[in-house]
Amino acid sequence: MKKIIIIGGGISGLATAWLLRSKALAAGKELEITLLEKEERPGGKIRSIKAEGYTCEWGPNGFLDSKPQTLDLCRKLGVEDNLHRSNDNARKRFIFSGGELHQLPDGAPAFLKSRLISWPGKLRLALEPTPFIAPPPAGVDETLAAFGRRRLGGEALDKLIAPMVSGIFAGDPETMSLVSCFPRIAELEREYGGLIRAMIMLAKKKKRDQAAGKVVSSAAGPGGVLTSFREGIQYLADAMAASLGDLVKPGIAVTSVEKGADLPYLVKCSDGSEYGADQVIIASPAFAAAEMLSAMDGEIAGTLRRIPYASMTVICFGYSRGQIGRSLDGFGYLIPKKEGLSTLGTLWDSSMFENRAPEGKVLLRSMMGGACFPDYVTLSDDEVVARVREDLQLTMGIDAAPEFVRIFRHPQAIPQYTVGHNDRLQALEQALKAYPGLILTGNSYRGIGLNDCVAAAERAADEALACVLD
Ligand SMILES: Cc1cc2nc3c(=O)[nH]c(=O)nc-3n(C[C@H](O)[C@H](O)[C@H](O)COP(=O)(O)OP(=O)(O)OC[C@H]3O[C@@H](n4cnc5c(N)ncnc54)[C@H](O)[C@@H]3O)c2cc1C
Repeated sequence: MKKIIIIGGGISGLATAWLLRSKALAAGKELEITLLEKEERPGGKIRSIKAEGYTCEWGPNGFLDSKPQTLDLCRKLGVEDNLHRSNDNARKRFIFSGGELHQLPDGAPAFLKSRLISWPGKLRLALEPTPFIAPPPAGVDETLAAFGRRRLGGEALDKLIAPMVSGIFAGDPETMSLVSCFPRIAELEREYGGLIRAMIMLAKKKKRDQAAGKVVSSAAGPGGVLTSFREGIQYLADAMAASLGDLVKPGIAVTSVEKGADLPYLVKCSDGSEYGADQVIIASPAFAAAEMLSAMDGEIAGTLRRIPYASMTVICFGYSRGQIGRSLDGFGYLIPKKEGLSTLGTLWDSSMFENRAPEGKVLLRSMMGGACFPDYVTLSDDEVVARVREDLQLTMGIDAAPEFVRIFRHPQAIPQYTVGHNDRLQALEQALKAYPGLILTGNSYRGIGLNDCVAAAERAADEALACVLD
């Protein structure tokens, strides 16, 4: 029976193990799969912490239902009935600018009325579909900032694109690559010659498809609906780990992956245990994979080390509803860097999922740090609380001290797909040809969302199974 070792028990490793096992069963192949996870608890960045009636998400809040991967996995796992979709009130998103929260406009009339973008900024945006806009520079891995300035203008970059990049990647648009972070946007520009033009053409196509009775993507549009579980997103990782049973070995850190004598690979662990394997799937962050592979292949390890990570601090504040003097109907807000505040934004978690706070209370979750503020992760608890309170006072007028506080630090939170990321991926792909059965998966390569991790897990499981069936 072929032996397959999976390293890392975040959603990427868990989903790879689960999908590989079920695909192998369907193909009538028996495999010996072992998943090695460094921590005592599988789940990686996924963790829902319950305290004093609040449910605080340590990392991700949920996944978007506009892509099918995680929903499909939930269906196959049999946990679909426990899904919890965020409240309709949480569709409204805000940006803090010029001392006030502006709702992100959801159409042209609302955009014209909105005071978020000035009239010169709106006129510059109106040029987007015209031939006055320079085409993408040929052969250049364009940064998100350069793309934003070129297509939409400086103000839209500062107030729309940069906050979105910090909300998703905790990233700096001046260093992040458009094609690596948002390949679909680059594709739409190439295909339709502009973003507004693409939106119009796609809306027309959707109408035509609907009229023809075809199934079209989620009614919520490209953004989709944030989806989790009543118990929090950890429910998904726990369900996968429980279903995998003894196959998951927590509390075992892999120190190296080397060429083996009897089997192609030998996996060595910090507790002295060793595992021979026909195939090894590494689903840990790139920097950890680099350490494991450095003895076997310095070039691969070097390329992996060049994928940088941004740090992030997540701060949960609980209040009595009466202490907040404004409506909390919405998702929350992001803060452009130019505003000079300490936080990247604040999510109104108990508005999205009402059971995240006890009756009569609310839970706010602020983010701090990211690629633009790398040192913030080292601030003391007192300093973090003081800065978040100062920002909440300015953005939402909250003077009261929170009744409940939790602070979660992620020193290496999110991989940054900076300029050159695609070249690094190609170099890895080329170098891995020398190691049949060695597969890299996880959020370091082709998407950081939970949906992307599950999609990559599916590709890794298919590749591993194809090797076995060869
Ligand atoms: C604060 C925050 C908020 C986020 N919010 C969202 C969100 O709302 N929606 C969304 O879709 N995405 C969100 N993301 C992104 C998403 O959570 C991650 O991209 C995803 O969870 C990564 O999963 P992974 O399995 O690839 O990596 P990880 O979760 O990092 O798992 C890797 C695993 O490898 C293990 N490991 C490392 N080294 C070793 C070793 N030597 N031996 C054995 N095991 C090892 C680690 O312990 C870990 O368990 C968020 C991320 C953060 C940090």
